[in-house]
Amino acid sequence: MAEPREYDLIVIGGGPAGLTAGLYAARARRRTLLMERGVIGGQIALTERVENYPGFPDGVNGFDLAQAMLTQAQNNDLEVEYSEATAVIPEDPLYRVRTTEGDALAKAVIITSGADPNRLGVPGEEEMTGRGVSYCATCDAAFFRNQEVAVVGGGDSALDEGLFTTRFASKVYIIHRRDQLRASRILQERAFANPKISFILNTLVTEVVGQGQVERLRLRNAQTGEESPLPVAAVFVFIGQKPNTAYLRGLVPMDNGGHLYVNEWMETALPGLYAAGDVRVSSARQVASASGDGCTAAIAADHYISERFRE
Ligand code: NAP
Repeated sequence: MAEPREYDLIVIGGGPAGLTAGLYAARARRRTLLMERGVIGGQIALTERVENYPGFPDGVNGFDLAQAMLTQAQNNDLEVEYSEATAVIPEDPLYRVRTTEGDALAKAVIITSGADPNRLGVPGEEEMTGRGVSYCATCDAAFFRNQEVAVVGGGDSALDEGLFTTRFASKVYIIHRRDQLRASRILQERAFANPKISFILNTLVTEVVGQGQVERLRLRNAQTGEESPLPVAAVFVFIGQKPNTAYLRGLVPMDNGGHLYVNEWMETALPGLYAAGDVRVSSARQVASASGDGCTAAIAADHYISERFRE
């Protein structure tokens, strides 16, 4: 068995929170490893346009923004590895991070493992994922040019992605379970003004139907219980996210949804263990707030290492 690699700091997750934490830690001259199991940027890597991250008057492509953050952090000596953390084990005074590429030890750890999209949990959804069921309009909307599609959800993601989908689809039905949308006013105004978008409110999707490819949805009116079919070629699901914290279960307190409790310095209940971005409770879930969290966590971790290890 190879000896575990040793770092001052390990950052788990390469979204905006992790990349910012990595940048600050590396610039504080802490030997820092960032691990990412998928695509650098996390959820923003799949976002067509980020219009509310300061400094980009015309917006910026999410993938490009993530790559720029990565380059900036690596130019400051952040080490990046493509591996998945499977456990974090306190071995006083260090932490052992178990990964798919072997173990690594660090004086402090920042959890920035982000969140994954929620599923509808209805018949047909799993079988037809990639065959018309999608959780990323930016990735898949172009496959449904001149066809009618559905988007599920009433938050910013549903409206943002629904608007994007109108570039390709002939019609976009946005299906929401209540009669009030959760999305911000500006996105609501744009969606209402778009002639390709129709809202179907107070409605649940109860089944995705098709022979190997989505052909229609079964809908149920939440008030009357009445069922109806909706013929569509695709359904894009944006009904919130679940934090990626299963590998930390039992280590530190989480809320019922699996978000990690932190204080204003992003400290969890364990000294030297921090959480930033979408994995923490009460996050604003924005690129700007995730970056701010990552910065705060890295500064806190730097101070912790100085005090605890007299460095
Ligand atoms: P969200 O704000 O949590 O909205 C999730 C939506 O899905 C809600 O409308 C919710 O309905 C609905 N929903 C939840 N579970 C459902 C179920 N089982 N069946 C049907 N509908 C269900 O999530 P989000 O839209 O992904 O946004 C997450 C965060 O990212 C937010 O803070 C948002 O502001 C931010 N964001 C911002 C932008 C932007 O500013 N351009 C873009 C994307 C995301 P209810 O309303 O009834 O609860």
